[in-house]
Amino acid sequence: MLGRMFAAMLLALSVQSSPVSMTLDVDATDAPMKILHATATMPAHPGPMTLFYPKWIPGEHMPSGPIANLTGLHVFADGKELEWRRDLVEMNAFAVTVPAGARTLTARYDYAVPVAGGAFGSTASTNAKIAVINWYTVGLYPMGDNPAAITVTATLKAPSGWKHGGSLDVDRVDGDTIHYAPTSLELLNDHPVLLGEHFRSITLWPAGSAPGEHVLDVVADSDWALQFPQSRIDAYKQTVLEERHVFGDVGHYRKYHWLLTLSDNLGAFGVEHHECADDRVAENTFVDDDSAKRSSLLLPHEFFHSWNGKARRPAGLINGGYEKPMKDELLWVYEGLTNYYGELLAARGGLISPQEWTDELAADALSVAGPGRTWRPLQDTADSAPFLYLAGNGWGGWRRGTDFYAEGSLVWLEADITIRRLTNGQKTLDDFCALFHGQADNGRVWVKGYTEQDVFDALSEVARYDWKAFFEKRLRAKSTDLPLGGVEGGGYRLVYNAEANMFTDPWSLDGGLNALGSLGVHVAADGTVDNAWPGAPAYAAGLSNGMRIVAVNGRRFSNDELKRAIAATASSTTPLELIVENGSYFKVLRIDYHGGLRYPHLERITGAPDVLTAIAAPRVK
Ligand SMILES: [Zn+2]
Repeated sequence: MLGRMFAAMLLALSVQSSPVSMTLDVDATDAPMKILHATATMPAHPGPMTLFYPKWIPGEHMPSGPIANLTGLHVFADGKELEWRRDLVEMNAFAVTVPAGARTLTARYDYAVPVAGGAFGSTASTNAKIAVINWYTVGLYPMGDNPAAITVTATLKAPSGWKHGGSLDVDRVDGDTIHYAPTSLELLNDHPVLLGEHFRSITLWPAGSAPGEHVLDVVADSDWALQFPQSRIDAYKQTVLEERHVFGDVGHYRKYHWLLTLSDNLGAFGVEHHECADDRVAENTFVDDDSAKRSSLLLPHEFFHSWNGKARRPAGLINGGYEKPMKDELLWVYEGLTNYYGELLAARGGLISPQEWTDELAADALSVAGPGRTWRPLQDTADSAPFLYLAGNGWGGWRRGTDFYAEGSLVWLEADITIRRLTNGQKTLDDFCALFHGQADNGRVWVKGYTEQDVFDALSEVARYDWKAFFEKRLRAKSTDLPLGGVEGGGYRLVYNAEANMFTDPWSLDGGLNALGSLGVHVAADGTVDNAWPGAPAYAAGLSNGMRIVAVNGRRFSNDELKRAIAATASSTTPLELIVENGSYFKVLRIDYHGGLRYPHLERITGAPDVLTAIAAPRVK
């Protein structure tokens, strides 16, 4: 049964010798100047040769390789400079003609690190004190060869005195230059490196311990940001155990490092890898309890991906070369299941309380409650991911965003509840994860593809059911109704009240106000509306995306003022009055809304069993 069920593509990723060997030397000494210098050397093949700059990036789910930032390119054959020409269709490809007899091709180039914009690993990645090196941003290679079959010997020169972290095997360190052990190009790109002046490496579990080597490598803009409490470290130690427990204590990595960047001026996101994750949050995240809780899903989420996304991967995301497109249709498994467990494992590990986990689920529900769900089914948010990630906030409620994350939490909760119901509590979604992701290849880095049907079959092996119909109904729905079957089956109902929910703005550092539950808008700190839901009270009164609120009930705008004014609507019979700037014109808007502040929460259904608290309970003592 297992053999047939898991018969999808198998791709060995083990470190091994291969016909193509190259070297990649990266000089990061100018990282504070926001530029990296690189030299790639590979065997020359006389005649036409094509160099390729990675385009479709694993974990980013789109063609986000930052080709616009590749600068200063010169190509040489045995030291003699060659002309290069970009391909007019595949614009990440550079053609050269290698003269007869040449043995070595060398490319020298720079990566101009963006100050703003970009996606994930190619956002702002260096500053005065930190450099996060994603090798794919500096990684030209011979096009056509499978990156898994190219051996790369890489070096990285750090700014003087900076320390380094990561899970890539180090051969030796020579002054500020790190010499890495040879590895495949695919695995090199799967192992970003942290460099920084303010650095701390915390061994959560040492090599040789029962769970194996698990390390938290941290760089920060200041030493202050590194002085977080031991209780936080202990909770992450526990999270490692809880996370491995879900998969039956089987991991597909030799060691695991969380690479954590604490900065207010670099990109903020997480990207998963087999043996590490590139996690970037605000500078105060680990010293401030509220910030720590708001971001608590991030590290468990990325760690979960080592199994769900890296080892077990949708077949459409296994492409055998960075020039080959990825198909994102199964991101509702890859990201949806991971989002459910990232939030849940933060509770099981003690990073948040079970009650705070229910608030996070409620915030998920609000985030996908926009009117766009009446035209775009959840499946299309996954299919469209390559452009939805970059679509920005404006019109997010009508367009929909990458809702397979937050709505995935609700749908997979319902799957968990359904399994418990079908098996009278004998089985849970954890059993599916252990069956589907945790197989007997403990400690080996591998990738095994799957199809939608493989997911349904494995779920049925845990609890016999028509899982295809279950998911298709939720993936194809075009309805304002939210998938709250899991919440209700768990003994709770979604309610709105004036009590704040810290998770309605989990990533916000910018003083924005989430009034989506009341007026149907999200307002940035300067008053600009960056998400207005058609059909909601504010939109009905004429407030739309890109307009800027300058006054609230006759008084100069601030989000605090707006918040007080929304609260006052509960006991007021007059409309809320705004002065709004739209381009160079001003207008007075009157919003006939009297519901007060409304934030989402989950409330116990009296008499129903509290299954959610049972789900959030720690499994490992
Ligand atoms: Zn993810």
